[in-house]
Amino acid sequence: MDKSFPLSGWSSLAIHGGHTQDPLYAHQVPIYASSTYVYDDAEQGMRRFSGKEEGFIYSRWGNPTMREAEEKIAALESFETGIELKGILHASGMAAITTLMLANLKPGDKIITHYSLYGGTNELVNIILPGLNITSIITDLGDLNKTNDILNSDPAIKMMYLETPANPTIQCVDIEELTKLAKKHELIVACDNTFATPYLQQPFRYGVDFVMHSTTKFLNGHGTAIGGVLIGKDIEFMKTRMTKVHRLLGGNSNPFDAFLLIQGIKTLEIRMERHCHNAMEVAHFLESHPAVARVNYTGLTSHPDHSIAMKQMRHPGGMLSFELKGGLQAGIQFMNKLKMCVRTVSLGTCDTLLSHPASMTHHGVPKEEREKYGITDGLIRMNVGIENLQDILGDLQQAL
Ligand code: PLP
Repeated sequence: MDKSFPLSGWSSLAIHGGHTQDPLYAHQVPIYASSTYVYDDAEQGMRRFSGKEEGFIYSRWGNPTMREAEEKIAALESFETGIELKGILHASGMAAITTLMLANLKPGDKIITHYSLYGGTNELVNIILPGLNITSIITDLGDLNKTNDILNSDPAIKMMYLETPANPTIQCVDIEELTKLAKKHELIVACDNTFATPYLQQPFRYGVDFVMHSTTKFLNGHGTAIGGVLIGKDIEFMKTRMTKVHRLLGGNSNPFDAFLLIQGIKTLEIRMERHCHNAMEVAHFLESHPAVARVNYTGLTSHPDHSIAMKQMRHPGGMLSFELKGGLQAGIQFMNKLKMCVRTVSLGTCDTLLSHPASMTHHGVPKEEREKYGITDGLIRMNVGIENLQDILGDLQQAL
C-alpha cells in the first residue's frame, strides 16, 4: 500500500496498518523463521550493534514478522488520537506484564490496583513481586475518594494498574478519572485492554502510559497461539529501558505466532461487532431465564458499571458472566449438558466458550477467598462467540 494514502477507517488500518512491502514481493508478510541475520561485512555488523544502522540482529531482539504485528497493534491503539506509540511483542500476556513491572518498578515501590484482576496478574503482584520488595495495595478503584486518600497517604505508590473490563467479573473502572487522579501523584498508569481490544477501547485517549494485551484472546481470535503485547507512548523509554528488560528476560514472541496474530487482527472489527451483538442478545435471554439469578454484562442497564463502560467503550464487549440459582451442583450440571458451546478456559475465539471458575480455574481457591472477588459457586463465565445466534441460544436453553 502507498503509505501517503491516508486511511480513515478502522478496518482498513487493521488490514493494511504496519505492513511493509516484502523485498521478494510476497503479498502477506512471510514467516521469517531465522534466529539471526547476516551482515554484508564486519563494519555493517558494528553499525547494527552500535545502533547507527537500523536492521535485525537476533530474533530475541526483533524479527520482521513480529515487527509487523507490533506496528499493526500500535497503529490500532493510536487510531485517530495522533499519539505515537511503540509496541513490543511478547511470548504471552504474562510476559508483557512482567516486562512492564520490572522495567518500571524497583524495591520499595508499590502498585495500586483493584480486586478483580486476571488470576495470573493477581499472583504476580501478590506472590512474585513481594519477593523483590515490590508490593501492592488492592482497593476498590470504583471509589475515587478512597483511592485519592490512599494516594495522598502513601508516597511509595509508583504505579496504578488497571484491567477493564476485568476478568472474570466484567467489572469496569473509569480510566479517565483514575488516570487524572494518578497523574496528580505522578504515577505510571498501565491498563490491560485484553477484554476490550483497541476496537472497543483506546486507553491512551485518557492519558495512560502503557497498554497490555494478552493477544492470545480476541486479537488472535482463533485460539491458535499464546502471545502478548506491551505498548507505550514514551518512545525513548520503549526503545531503551523497556527494550532492554524485554530482551534480557527473554519473553520474546516467535514468527509463526506473530503471523497467526496478524491474520487474526485483519478481521477484528467484524468479529467484535458480531461478538458484541450476540453477547447483548445472550445477556437479555439469560436475564429473563428462571434458572439464572444474576447476569454480569455491562451492556445491561442493570449492571453497576454500565455508564462507565458506555463512556469509554464503543460497545460493551463479547464477555459476560452469570450466576446460576443452584450453586456449585447447578454449575457442574449446566457445563456437562452443553452440546455446541465449548467447555474450556480462555476467551476471544470465534467459538462460544464457557467456564465454571468454582470447579475449574479457581477450584483450589478457598470458597470465602474467591467469593470476596465475586467468584461464587454458581458463576459461569462466557465468551460469546460469533456463531449463529439461534444456535448459541438453543444450546444454552437446552442446558439450562
Ligand atoms: N490479562 C487478561 C485480562 C487475561 O485474561 C489473561 C489470560 O487469560 C492474561 C492477561 C494473561 O495472558 P496470557 O495467558 O497470554 O499470558
